[in-house]
Formats: sequence, C-alpha cells, structure tokens
Amino acid sequence: MNFDGFDLIVVGSGFFGATIAERAARELGLTVAVLDKRTHFGGNSYSEINTETGIEVHPYGTHIFHTNSEEVWTYINRFTQFSEYRHRVLTVHGNRVFSMPINLGTICSFFGRHFTPDEARALVAQEMAAEAIGEPTNLEEKAVKSIGRSLYNAFIRGYTMKQWQTDPRQLPASIIGRLPVRFTFDDRYFADRFEGMPLGGYGAIFRTMLNQPKIQMCLGVDFFDIRDQIPAGKPIIYTGAIDRYYDYQFGELGWRTVDLEWEVAQTPDFQGTSVMNYADMDVPFTRIHEFRHLHPERPFDGDKTIIAREFSRFAGKGDEPYYPIATPADRDLYERYVALTEREPNVIFGGRLGTYRYLDMHQAIGAALKCYDTQVVPLVTAGKPLRV
Ligand code: UDP
Repeated sequence: MNFDGFDLIVVGSGFFGATIAERAARELGLTVAVLDKRTHFGGNSYSEINTETGIEVHPYGTHIFHTNSEEVWTYINRFTQFSEYRHRVLTVHGNRVFSMPINLGTICSFFGRHFTPDEARALVAQEMAAEAIGEPTNLEEKAVKSIGRSLYNAFIRGYTMKQWQTDPRQLPASIIGRLPVRFTFDDRYFADRFEGMPLGGYGAIFRTMLNQPKIQMCLGVDFFDIRDQIPAGKPIIYTGAIDRYYDYQFGELGWRTVDLEWEVAQTPDFQGTSVMNYADMDVPFTRIHEFRHLHPERPFDGDKTIIAREFSRFAGKGDEPYYPIATPADRDLYERYVALTEREPNVIFGGRLGTYRYLDMHQAIGAALKCYDTQVVPLVTAGKPLRV
C-alpha cells in the first residue's frame, strides 16, 4: 500500500483514533488513513446486530455512554442521538438480589430493616471503629473504610477476587474508587450529568464519524505488517499497545482480559435487566450481560434473547487487553517505553493501549480532543512539530 498521499496515519479506530481522524479530516481537511487490525472499526466499543435474535450486542462487553464533560457530550451528539437509558446494576449474593453500587436500598435489604442515612452512616462508623484503619493503602482497606466489613465481605470481596484473581489487600485502592457508595436511595450506577445509549448503536456512531471522503479505512490491516511502507517522518497517531510498538524490548505490560461466554437463551427475557453481577465466589463468572435491555425503546417481540457470561483472567500475548494491572513494576516498565517515544517526534501515542491507562469511552474522546487541539492542529497550522 502506498501511504505517500496521506497527511496522517491513524493506527486503531477506537474512540481515540476515530476522534482524531474525524477532526483532522473534517476540520483541517487532512487526508487520513485509518488502520485497524480487526475487520471492524470502533475498538472495544463496537456494536453489531446479532443475526439470530436481531438484538444489538456489544462483543467486548456492555458499554454505556456517560460523561460529565459538556465538551465531550456536545461532540458525540454530532454523530448520534441518545436514549434516556439510565444504567442500573443488580448483584446476586446468597441467592438474593441487591442493588449496586451499594446504596441505602442495598443496606436496608442486606440487614433486613429500615435505615435512615444517619443510621446507615452510624452503622458503618461502628464497624469501622473495630478496624482501626488509617489512610487506606489497598482496596480492602478503602472499601471497609467506606462501607464496613459486612457489606465488604458480601458484595466486594468475592467479586474483586474473581475479577482480579488477586487478594484485595494486594490491589490499589484506586480500583474501588470507580464505584460510589451512597447513603441515599439513588441506585443509578453512574453519577455523571450526561448518560444514554446511542439510538442507532455504537457501530452507527463510528460509521458516521469515519465515513467521509478524506478518510480511508484500512480494516484487517496490522500496522506492524505495513510499517516499513510508511514514509519516514509521516505523522502517526498510534493507539495500539505501546510495548508491542517497541517489540516488547523491555518486557510485557500486565493486562487483564475477559472471556465472554455467549448463549442464545430460549426465552424472551433471561434476567430482566441488562447487567447482573454475581458477588459470590462459588459462581465462577463475575456478571451476565443481557443486551436487549440496553434498548428498552426498541420494539421487541422475539422469543429468544442473547446473553454473555463474563469471566476475568490475566491476559497472555494474543489475548485482548482490557484492564491495565499497573503494578509498580508495570508503571516502571511503562515509563521506560515512554522514554523511547521522545526519539519519535512524529508519533503520538494515545488511547487506552497506547498510554497504558484504563479509559472509559468519554475519557478517550476527551483525551483525543485535547490531543487534536494541542498537538495535531499546531502541526498543520503553524508548521510546529507534532509533539509539543
Ligand atoms: N466491584 C465489586 N462488586 C461489584 C462491582 C464492582 O466489588 O458488584 C468492585 C471490583 O473491585 C471492581 C471495581 O469495583 O474491580 C470496579 O468496578 P467497575 O464496575 O467500575 O468495573 P468495570 O465495569 O469497569 O469492569
């Protein structure tokens, strides 16, 4: 393939790459080649219709769009309209169903009695007093400090062990920071200002973003197979794994992956909700996704539904990387790779894989918009080097 005629090469068509490509083509009129080794665009956010059931599925797990950023919300709304969907998650513990994240409803159900917010706080404080935890140094301490030992043991410990295959005392407190605890009956999973599901699905968003004359999509093309055909110095936005870019010369960064076990169930409704978590260790999976519930606005009169059971494990080479493990050793390794990027002023590393950071969709878009403003625009408007 001849890349001479392109102004910009974007490697990876997830939200980071797609946003840069869309902006560069539409705003700056650049000619952009977007490469993706997969045969579809959209990275892990991709969605498609399952032909057997007619239900839209998320092949890499449920993706709900939510953000607090007005800028990101305005941007994404150029490509889709959103439904009024508000994500709510339930969790099964001891054959009973509770609301997640832990809120006053969860606490009342768990202890089998009515609690006011003050009473619930007092209960947690009382359980806490027995623990003598200072500044939390790990996930268990952080969780116990905010919800007490009983709720931690019921809803967090087993789930976290299954998801990370690591004792929660060995995990950073930041992981649980993603999960709010509420002393109200608010049972929404996300607390962001803006939330919804794209009415036409994620596949449609990417199609609208990328389907323009200045963008050429090269699907099923692995950057490493054609790398030597790209002229030296050509600006590249690389959103693949940073360790692979450098041929793993210092070693591999640690990732976790998930296995989704798919099933078409012979019932119109398998579990009555989109995501059901399983908190207990004796159930091997962490959660079950049922995709039809993500779009209650769509008419559905089928007699089958499609579900996926999610299992979590360490990623080996060849597995899809999902969550950076980010031990201190991983962090050091990452910094060593970052030091190498200084020698390549025409390459920008971005996205979850390129920066070894867990990014939600809205964070990937926000980071890409920033990168576009601070790095891509200066290059073409003022002849400044790509890296600033
Ligand atoms: N978590 C848990 N129980 C649950 C849901 C989450 O203990 O029912 C903990 C677990 O440690 C997990 C973390 O909260 O790793 C973050 O959960 P989140 O839902 O953000 O994970 P994601 O949906 O991104 O996989």
